[in-house]
Amino acid sequence: MSLRPTVDFLLHDWLNVESLQSRERFADHSRETFDAVLDTCERIAREKYAPFNRLVDTQEPHFDGEKVILPQATHEAYKAYAESGMLSAAQDYEIGGMQLPYTVEAAANAFFAMASVSIGSGMLTSGNANLLMVHGTDVQKKVFAANEFSGRFSGTMCLSEPQAGSSLSDVMTRATPDGEGFEADALGPRYRLKGNKMWISSGEHELSENIIHLVLAKIPDANGQLVPGVKGISLFIVPKKLVDTNGQLTGERNDVALAGLNHKCGWRGTTNTLLNFGEGKYPVRGDTGAIGYLVGKPGEGLRCMFHMMNEARIGVGMAATMLGMAGYYASLDYAKNRPQGRPTGAGGKDASQPQVRIIEHADIKRMLLAQKAYSEGALALALYCARLVDEQHTGTAQDADVARLLLEVLTPIVKSFPSEWCLEANSLAIQIHGGYGYTRDFPVEQYWRDNRLNMIHEGTHGIQAMDLLGRKVLMEKGRGLQLLAERMLATAAKAETAWGPEAAALRDALKQVGEATQQAWAGAEPAQALANAVPYLQAFGHTVIAWIWLDVACSAASDQSPAAQGRRAACRYFFRYELPKIGAWLNVVKSRDPTCADLPKEAF
Ligand SMILES: Cc1cc2nc3c(=O)[nH]c(=O)nc-3n(C[C@H](O)[C@H](O)[C@H](O)COP(=O)(O)OP(=O)(O)OC[C@H]3O[C@@H](n4cnc5c(N)ncnc54)[C@H](O)[C@@H]3O)c2cc1C
Repeated sequence: MSLRPTVDFLLHDWLNVESLQSRERFADHSRETFDAVLDTCERIAREKYAPFNRLVDTQEPHFDGEKVILPQATHEAYKAYAESGMLSAAQDYEIGGMQLPYTVEAAANAFFAMASVSIGSGMLTSGNANLLMVHGTDVQKKVFAANEFSGRFSGTMCLSEPQAGSSLSDVMTRATPDGEGFEADALGPRYRLKGNKMWISSGEHELSENIIHLVLAKIPDANGQLVPGVKGISLFIVPKKLVDTNGQLTGERNDVALAGLNHKCGWRGTTNTLLNFGEGKYPVRGDTGAIGYLVGKPGEGLRCMFHMMNEARIGVGMAATMLGMAGYYASLDYAKNRPQGRPTGAGGKDASQPQVRIIEHADIKRMLLAQKAYSEGALALALYCARLVDEQHTGTAQDADVARLLLEVLTPIVKSFPSEWCLEANSLAIQIHGGYGYTRDFPVEQYWRDNRLNMIHEGTHGIQAMDLLGRKVLMEKGRGLQLLAERMLATAAKAETAWGPEAAALRDALKQVGEATQQAWAGAEPAQALANAVPYLQAFGHTVIAWIWLDVACSAASDQSPAAQGRRAACRYFFRYELPKIGAWLNVVKSRDPTCADLPKEAF
């Protein structure tokens, strides 16, 4: 099985990505240049990632007291990815980028996520550098971002602390001005940071010359108190090793120490760390405290960080999607080869007949179709959102604004739908393998373990749900939701002739979501409205994916190839087996059902 025909169909036949060539920024690009990028990424993923996915799972990162040791294969994959130029693919030519549309970049990165999600493709590094390109000073861009784009340095995002996960307003890392003239440092106002950061991905390793941590911390007020809430949070660049204004290492180790590695259920090829900032293990310039350079203005840290988090959320959704896809392909291959059982004929089963391959059984087909519907639907949504990112950056002012609002509403979905349903796809992939799927002799149990992370990081499922129902569908007087509804209704109109029942079902689903949104808030009590935010997120996500499938199916209308037949079947499957679930989810939202919220903790 190859992912490429699906990617090509979605990019070209469905999203018409070539149309972006009419934009000045992408004028040098063509189908050939897009294909060349996809070819390169497909090859590197095949050669440097896929063969080592099991190895990085079994040879977990370990700390020898001085260094974190990763398999040689990870070093080689990191090098090949950096050399491919993908870290700076979307950047301007002047700084060594390719000015590649984000849609193509996202599609190209999908190959790495499918081959080995935990070897990783530099999402944190390019996200970190992209943030600095927007919020950093010219010197910060040159010294830190440019060296991240080249792969010489790598990046992290340090938000979480042991006592502050979902609730970032409780961050306790402190940043105090670093002596006289702290404001005049060429790398940015210089502070000393002290605190602990938990769960930091790629927080320590030897893959790159330096690690650039982007750290959220609070600057105490005049009385030495930390300002409560997110308003007090600022953002700092904290390099593991200090650098001069040319980006050269000064030879000084910053006061950032690895306190320990977390040993995870999955995604084991990536180090995950507890980092101590400023505890004095590596005193620097005669003092304790990690040296950090302010990015943007004091108190605007979370706003700046959101730049990285939104990108990261599309990236997380894509990772979950590709794990779903990997399990689908593995179980499809297995189902085509595993003989077991006989079909039930008119007179029952005939034991004298040879066994059939399990793909002949209707229940196996159901599980394959479910995986296809979840994973390919999620991939189409991720690429649709990536196309909106390109619109936001290169469209007319009006189109860019529409794209921005659509992205606001769709970001919780592009992150959460695959995290939940492509995980379910991985569970179905295990089921298709029977007992073998539960062993480590087949890859599907690893896919499930790797995928289990995605509902937890980058905002848990519950937090995404509250963001959607509590903020995104209400913002700007519900305009984002209205714009999305307009797009869905346009698809329903287009599908009317060939897909009449599905078009009607989509309209009805949209009506139900709209009513539920209003009724959730009819009591005006946020606690009541949001008590059932997760069922709302599930119903919203299913409505979005139904829309995406109907739109995709319209593009495949006249195509009689087996691939097009499969797409139409996945669309039908989604409308018949999945979309009807939204009624149950939305009932509790509409009635603001208090069953969960009102139960006293003693009753559990
Ligand atoms: C492998 C891995 C990699 C990670 N990488 C990074 C990284 O690179 N950088 C980084 O900064 N962080 C990272 N994280 C941290 C991740 O973002 C947090 O784990 C996540 O935000 C949840 O925080 P928590 O673990 O403290 O859980 P908690 O916030 O304690 O949440 C526990 C449960 O309570 C629920 N909950 C919490 N608050 C509410 C509420 N108000 N209403 C309803 N339910 C609520 C949550 O949804 C969750 O189900 C990573 C985590 C893991 C596991």
